[in-house]
Amino acid sequence: MSLYTSTRRKLENVTATQAILKGLSDEGGLFIPTEIPSIDFKLEEVLAWDYKELAYRVIKLFFEDIEAQDLRYCIEHAYDEKFDDKEITPLVTVQSANFLELFHGPTIAFKDMALTILPYFMLTSKKYNKESKDIVILTATSGDTGKAALEGFANVEGTKIIIFFPEDGVSEVQKRQMVTQEGNNTLVIGVKGNFDDCQTGVKEIFADRAFEQEVAEKNYKFSSANSINIGRLVPQVVYYFSAYAKLVRENKIKMGQPMNVVVPTGNFGNILAAYYAKHMGLPIQKFICASNTNKVLFDFFQKGTYDRNRDFHLTISPSMDILISSNLERLLYHISGGDAENVVKMMDELRTQGKYTITESMKSGLSDFYGGYADDETTKAYIKKVYEEENYLMDTHTAVAYAVYDKYMKETNDTVPSVIISTASPYKFTSSVMTALDSKFENIDDFTLLEEMHALIKGDMPKAMDQIATKEIKHKTVCETREMKHIVSSFLV
Ligand SMILES: *Cc1c(COP(=O)(O)O)cnc(C)c1O
Repeated sequence: MSLYTSTRRKLENVTATQAILKGLSDEGGLFIPTEIPSIDFKLEEVLAWDYKELAYRVIKLFFEDIEAQDLRYCIEHAYDEKFDDKEITPLVTVQSANFLELFHGPTIAFKDMALTILPYFMLTSKKYNKESKDIVILTATSGDTGKAALEGFANVEGTKIIIFFPEDGVSEVQKRQMVTQEGNNTLVIGVKGNFDDCQTGVKEIFADRAFEQEVAEKNYKFSSANSINIGRLVPQVVYYFSAYAKLVRENKIKMGQPMNVVVPTGNFGNILAAYYAKHMGLPIQKFICASNTNKVLFDFFQKGTYDRNRDFHLTISPSMDILISSNLERLLYHISGGDAENVVKMMDELRTQGKYTITESMKSGLSDFYGGYADDETTKAYIKKVYEEENYLMDTHTAVAYAVYDKYMKETNDTVPSVIISTASPYKFTSSVMTALDSKFENIDDFTLLEEMHALIKGDMPKAMDQIATKEIKHKTVCETREMKHIVSSFLV
């Protein structure tokens, strides 16, 4: 049976569904599998499977307490016509690169890969654990998680969802997508602060035992849709297998040969899923971790010191504007050989001094990682270059990854084929992308530019953008960080 423990304490192991229900462990640690499972199939078999079958075969190894028919049900309902591509995660190849497009879901960002299935996992977990309280999803977002979680949980019986986003830290399209959300169980709040402020506020609410008691009396129980929830991480492992199969099918690699992955990184969830895939048996050689100007991870890979004491930058890749990458804690746990005491020490140092340094032996566990970063100017230059030379339009996050990939290739001449993880549709960051192509689009808003962009890209405009500019705004509250708890309390009547 696959069981879960905490990064911060040796606790009694919990089942997968218990870990999904809780989100964070009691002492603030993240749930991790006591053992990363190995695949129980041959890689060759993956070639014959569609996305749903692959998802079933991979996820069941992590969530063994979910019965087969229930897991199939979750998968069937998540990866359906909500996605506008039958393959779910198509691989698009141009001359210079392979892009795994993870933005074909309902909110056109990769968060849909996990957040279309998380509500089903949550309800399943509720049922298995005879949890009668309503689940309140409480989530901080740098833009994409919020909308994807809202889409997933809106009007789901027995749940409520509350989203906090940085009022001035998301794109116009991202914001509009969230504040127009329908569903009588949804609440969306802008916070006067950055993403880290939102995330810290949410973590404090989770850690507040008295408040937990107070809402329990009203028959509510908190959980999280952030990538700290193991129910979000595990579905992300699937598409790395899918990418590999696609490379083999297209004769880019031979079965068994390694690939590299290039991941535009923020909270470190996506790239950690790749790490899990490798440890399950998928031949991945390098994890190329791409950051924007908030390059705290780049510095970490260089020096072995994680230091958040620095200016926070608002960039054109807002979903990566993060100084505290929560999921790194899971990697620290794994590379320290499961030394929870050590993790607690580092996390305390992060809280009190804003930094920590890993040991020499832990550093050796990072040898498969390569860190790089790109500033806004570089990112824009690559959007333009790849569009003009290869007729492929990248969003800003994907372009950060492409820039780092290009640098890596020039530095290393690595011959191992890479897959660039494409995390958002360019439609989601219309203004930044169009301005990168031509400065004449400066100071024109995202909505006006949708049509301009449509003229450049073949295919239909994504459904998510339909009438986005004219939809009714339903959520107008903006608050200070210190008011977050009060707002949550008032919503839970
Ligand atoms: C969330 C997000 C990222 C960062 O992913 P992490 O798993 O947090 O590292 C990158 N790009 C886009 C478009 C995102 O929405």
